[in-house]
Amino acid sequence: MCGALRPSDAGKKAVLMGWVNRRRDLGNIIFIDLRDRTGVTQIVVNIELNAAIHEKAEQLRNEYVVAVIGTVKKRDADTINKNIPTGEVELVAEELRILNVSKPLPFLPSDTVLANEEMRLKYRYLDLRRDAMQFNIELRHKVALAIRDYLSSAGFFEIETPFMTRSTPEGARDYLVPSRVQPGTFYALPQSPQLFKQILMISGFDKYFQIVRCFRDEDLRADRQPEFTQIDLEMSYPQPERVWEVVEGFLTAAFKAAGHEIKTPFPRMDYDDAIRQYGVDKPDLRLPAFTEVRDCFAPADLEQLAINKDLPVIAIRTPKVGELSRKERDDIKPLFVSKGGARVFEDFKRIENKFPEAGAKVRQKAGAAADDLLVLVVGSAQSGRDDHPAGKRKVTPAELAIYASAGILRVALAQKYADRHGIFKKSGDPEKDFCFLWVTNFPMFEYDENERRWVAAHHPFTSPHDEDMDKLETDPAMVRALAYDVVLNGTELGSGSIRIHRQDIQRQVFKALAMTEEEARSRFGFFLEALEYGTPPHGGIALGLDRIVMILAGADSLREVIPFPKTAAAKDLMCEAPTPVAAGQLRELGIGVVAKK
Ligand code: ASP
Repeated sequence: MCGALRPSDAGKKAVLMGWVNRRRDLGNIIFIDLRDRTGVTQIVVNIELNAAIHEKAEQLRNEYVVAVIGTVKKRDADTINKNIPTGEVELVAEELRILNVSKPLPFLPSDTVLANEEMRLKYRYLDLRRDAMQFNIELRHKVALAIRDYLSSAGFFEIETPFMTRSTPEGARDYLVPSRVQPGTFYALPQSPQLFKQILMISGFDKYFQIVRCFRDEDLRADRQPEFTQIDLEMSYPQPERVWEVVEGFLTAAFKAAGHEIKTPFPRMDYDDAIRQYGVDKPDLRLPAFTEVRDCFAPADLEQLAINKDLPVIAIRTPKVGELSRKERDDIKPLFVSKGGARVFEDFKRIENKFPEAGAKVRQKAGAAADDLLVLVVGSAQSGRDDHPAGKRKVTPAELAIYASAGILRVALAQKYADRHGIFKKSGDPEKDFCFLWVTNFPMFEYDENERRWVAAHHPFTSPHDEDMDKLETDPAMVRALAYDVVLNGTELGSGSIRIHRQDIQRQVFKALAMTEEEARSRFGFFLEALEYGTPPHGGIALGLDRIVMILAGADSLREVIPFPKTAAAKDLMCEAPTPVAAGQLRELGIGVVAKK
């Protein structure tokens, strides 16, 4: 291979095949950098040694495919290239065959400046020849293999579940596949193997996993892929902790495959605490938590500042960012997303000047050093009515609005000033670089304001907390789910739950979701029936493989770690899918296309 030869090979004969990465023509001598996925070797063609080969080498252009036979030679000290592992040798060509030619390329794999992304995706096969992409795809392979190995030795079977199936309950739109033999009927591509993996537990395969493609037709959001890969698993009789242990095990193996050590077990946090301390259910623990500073202000101060005295007053501390200039304060405003009347005080200096006593208390309580940035998020005097179905929750909707606004701002500030605080820079200390976390005890239901009903926060097969079963009918707002998310540096890597394994409870949950028996039966009848034949308690989880590889590759988009990704508009620019199809194909399927108004 082109990355293999070393000085110890000097004098040996070698055969290399690959692409012309670069050709330098010095007249009598031509140098060719020959590349394959393992690296680059310098080939030397000397007119004095072999005029016929030299003539052929003159015809070579970028990305021609070439076979060379030659003798390995150590390079002279002054021509050694320290940047590549083969840099101390070269291959002196004795025979050269052009295996194929190439048209002039839209961009070169060796270009140091990247082509724009549209070009990269249109000519994905050329983009994939680049070192960085070769690295990412190899990493993906190694990570997936490490996960498979780990799970297989922990007693899990990888079992395939169908792609042509019926709608699954993950809450996105389905991709549909029309049936020709039963016109007017459709398969759905799975949003996840959820029901099949639960059925596998009913079938006695007590530990299942699958590295599996899932399909979700969601509206374009930055960096979503309509088809993506999950590490999906399910087991019988587990407590949540047992599922977590398995996940920590395969993540350790995956990170090791990428050269990183991580620390287990991961810390755990209640959903309510995550919201109160970080304003999100996927906190980035590399940044300081919020500080609740309402009690630092006298009631009169709060009134003067038009701050709602019944709602949290949150101080966000961003280390080492320093005082902001007037312009920087203006720049913060667009970062702030006000939910339910939350307000931001981006000028803490002014508060300190006007209310020195409160200002000093806030600084102290938040543990803010002189060069830390403090920003306050508060409720406005008008906000905060809680006559809402979720009004009795520990964190009420009005409080949630403040926390959530502060949570978004906390991360946005850290990202904006990342160059000043250095928190996101890799330190080499796994505990600082990879902040994993289990978030648990999510609310079972969320209130859908538009539909005016409760919806499943995870999916309708998630088990309620044992202690909250009695509240299913009387008080759905207060029911907690046996659901958990695994979070890394503020990104959700996956979610899962202990499932409902009893028909009666499943029925109660459907009822709480305002789903009629008929509706439930028509959507999930086969599954509800299966539940009645001796279903063992079971639970599982699914993690996004693409996201994990993206983080390990240090890439900033999922598209960098998926060989053939789609754009944000769900298009494949290389094969130009989706496309219209021939009228005959549609006729056969009994499908007519109606223009959308
Ligand atoms: N099926 C769920 C999902 O895809 C994960 C799980 O509950 O195992 O998000």
